[in-house]
Amino acid sequence: MDPMKNCIFCQIVNNKRPARIVYEDEDVVAFHDINPQAPIHILIIPRKHIPQISAMQPEDQLLLGKIIFTGKNLAEQLNIADHGFRMVFNNGRYAGQQIFHIHLHLLGGRPMSWPPG
Ligand code: AMP
Ligand code: ZN
Repeated sequence: MDPMKNCIFCQIVNNKRPARIVYEDEDVVAFHDINPQAPIHILIIPRKHIPQISAMQPEDQLLLGKIIFTGKNLAEQLNIADHGFRMVFNNGRYAGQQIFHIHLHLLGGRPMSWPPG
C-alpha cells in the first residue's frame, strides 16, 4: 500500500481532491485553508511527501526555503505584507499537527497575539 494514497495533501497535489489553489509550480502548491483562522490563511506545501519538519533531510533544505519564499511572495500579492503576517510550521502532537504532509501556514489580515496557545 502506498502511504501517500491516504494523504489528503498528496491528493490535492495530484488533483484528486479539490482545493482553492492560489499558486503552483513544479515544486510547491499553495491553497486556501479550509478552516481559516485569519482573513488570509494559505497553506504552502511541497509536492514531495515529507511528513513533518522532524523528517526533513539535508536535500530538502532548498525546497523548504522555496516554500518560505513562496509564502513571502503570496503575502505581497494578497496585500498582507505591509501590516505583517505570521508563518507557522506545526510539528508533531504537542504543536497540534493534524496533517502529516509538511505545510507552511501563512496567516494575515488581522493583528495576532503572542505567545500562541
Ligand atoms: P496542522 O494542524 O498544522 O496540521 O494544520 C492542518 C490544516 O489543514 C488545518 O488548518 C486545516 O484547516 C487544514 N485542512 C485540512 N483539510 C484541508 C483541505 N482539504 N483543504 C484545505 N485545508 C485543509
Ligand atoms: Zn502527502
